[in-house]
Amino acid sequence: MAISPWHQALWHSLQERRQVIPSSTLLVGRPGTDLPNLGLELAGLLLCDAESSVKPCASCRSCQMSARGVHPDLHVISTEEAEGICDRSFRNQSMRYDDTDSTKRERRTTVRSIITVDQIRAVTESLNKSAGLGSSKVCLIYPADALNLNAANALLKSLEEPTAGSYYLLLSSFPGNLPPTIRSRCSRLDLNNPSNDESIEWLTTEHNVDLEVAQQLIAHGLGPYEVLQMNTREDIVAYQVLIDGLTGLISGNVNAGTFAREIGIYDRVLTLKVIQSEIYRGLRESVLPRHSADVPVLITSNLALEFREVLFSVYYAIGKFLSWPKKSVDEQLFLEHIAHKLAFTHNRVLNN
Ligand SMILES: [Zn+2]
Repeated sequence: MAISPWHQALWHSLQERRQVIPSSTLLVGRPGTDLPNLGLELAGLLLCDAESSVKPCASCRSCQMSARGVHPDLHVISTEEAEGICDRSFRNQSMRYDDTDSTKRERRTTVRSIITVDQIRAVTESLNKSAGLGSSKVCLIYPADALNLNAANALLKSLEEPTAGSYYLLLSSFPGNLPPTIRSRCSRLDLNNPSNDESIEWLTTEHNVDLEVAQQLIAHGLGPYEVLQMNTREDIVAYQVLIDGLTGLISGNVNAGTFAREIGIYDRVLTLKVIQSEIYRGLRESVLPRHSADVPVLITSNLALEFREVLFSVYYAIGKFLSWPKKSVDEQLFLEHIAHKLAFTHNRVLNN
């Protein structure tokens, strides 16, 4: 896959400074901005065997295997959840370290969203024992914030004493969720995030996404790759149901219980992200009106001023919820709690 336009400048400087790329690097970028692909390209750069100065060369044996997702010295560790949204070459590589115990896998009823200590042990073993194809080996971990505590502890040892020629690339959109011990052992590289205009331009010209859809979803804080994945009829309908429900909830035409029930069947994390961004947009509009906004705000300035405290508390509550380990809080109950707070008309009647 090609390097996204917003990563180009960084990519060129990485190519030039290949020799000094640290053995443990934490790459940080917003969700949906092509973090896994950039990680894979960087791994390919580190693994390229060509004599030429321009790497990756795209033609050596190593580059060809990287492109097919079958490089023996590229060790990709991920979660089933992340694999579901990554492209095929990523999945080809990461399958190697999926649960080896098939009974364990079959017993599970949910999609695995954490990286386990077994996965880290398996990769450490292969990095230590096998002679590589070339002089480098790369272990790529995405999303690194999905490492559970035991897995993080097991990884720590390898980060402290990497074997010669080994690189660890940790990719994360929520680096604050990584244990400080892991963070302190990596050099952090913050990737450039695309601006809203840049994302909309890329979606509409490169991928023929409808302008209005692109504007709405980007305005709600989704990354361009998240929008691309959502650009199906079904998801757009679900998104519209959410916006209609939220409009009804705010205006008092839909009650909180109905809203939470109807919306609860869709992706709750996405729902909460959209609600959070709507609150942010409403609050921002109330202090800094920008009437030219392409996407109208659902929470008007008047409401934002009147319910300022409530909005701030809901905004922070969602932020906290999204940063907690998955499934640690009942999502449906949390959604109902939020819905009750946002039923402004109802709350106003109660207050008076
Ligand atoms: Zn090459």
